[in-house]
Amino acid sequence: MKLFTVGPVQMYESTLNIRNKQVPYFRTEEFSEMMLTADKKLKELLNVGKNSETIYLTASGTGAMEAAVMNCFDDKDKLLVINGGSFGQRFAEICSIHNIDFTEIKVPFNVDLNYSMLQQYENKGYTGLLVNLDETSIGKLYNIELLSDFCKKNNLYFVVDAIGAVFADKILFDENNIDVLIFSSQKALSLAPGMAVVMLSERIVQNKVNNSNVKSLYFDFKSYISNFKRGQTPFTPAVGIFIEFAQRIDDIYNKGIQNIIDETENKAKYFRNKAREKGFKLPEYSLSNAVTPILIDGYAYDMYLKLKNEYDLTVTPNGGEYRDKIIRVGHMGNLTCADFDELIENMCIVSKILKGRA
Ligand SMILES: *Cc1c(COP(=O)(O)O)cnc(C)c1O
Repeated sequence: MKLFTVGPVQMYESTLNIRNKQVPYFRTEEFSEMMLTADKKLKELLNVGKNSETIYLTASGTGAMEAAVMNCFDDKDKLLVINGGSFGQRFAEICSIHNIDFTEIKVPFNVDLNYSMLQQYENKGYTGLLVNLDETSIGKLYNIELLSDFCKKNNLYFVVDAIGAVFADKILFDENNIDVLIFSSQKALSLAPGMAVVMLSERIVQNKVNNSNVKSLYFDFKSYISNFKRGQTPFTPAVGIFIEFAQRIDDIYNKGIQNIIDETENKAKYFRNKAREKGFKLPEYSLSNAVTPILIDGYAYDMYLKLKNEYDLTVTPNGGEYRDKIIRVGHMGNLTCADFDELIENMCIVSKILKGRA
């Protein structure tokens, strides 16, 4: 079985070796030390200032999205939500549930987000902007500089769900004036699902998080911040995944984050060129290095099923309106160009069979 998915993705041997071992007790010096060291390296990798805080949650990515909104905003805020797919929609739902005023900026399928879509919201009393930098549901990558400049100019807290983008596309926390950066273990980190990370700027911690009145025990960031001073979490974390995380951060740190991003980009480019050569259609909007959407009219879901069931190759299907129109091919994790050769070859075979049937 080979995974060309967006998460969980094909894992590295080093991660699988850790998964084989007994999970240790965690209220120990060793665990604390491991987490503090990993956190220091992580901050360096993503250009996150020393006075920022990291929240390590045991949750999926959505848990971190919701927790971030709950801890950083309340009914006095007014947010902009970039909604260009199902993850943008999720941010909108989270705001609705928590009674936070928001306006959606809908981005049509075929186009990139541009300044003219943002312009009308300048000087209208907004306090924050939420974006899924890679709208992974369709693989669209938004322009981080455009959004960062807009937030800076309008003094908005800049919340970046980078669950599908971090370690695959270039993101610099301080340089991009990010206030909240969210990601999770099962995407580009290539670990098991279960751990989600929220990185917070000094200003959002001081102005918002520390003064928040969160109606939640488990998701109150204040207790995560105070516990992490000693490298601990308030509740039992997914200990095994945290150990995988520390090892993987070490690997990325030693290899260099730009090399990791370049590797993913090269795999994406290699696959995209081959796919176009073979006559597959890709969308025209900007793409994340993490994933390539392929437009397949009418039999996308059948193609996913056939590739999985008969060829042992798992690409990512879509739900909802794109179910029969798009498959997504992930480039994260332990995959090589030879794997993409094999995939393309079999996509051609399956496509011929299904086309013939249609
Ligand atoms: C995968 C993903 C999520 C959420 O994922 P879960 O871990 O399934 O909750 C959120 N946002 C983006 C952009 C993603 O790619």
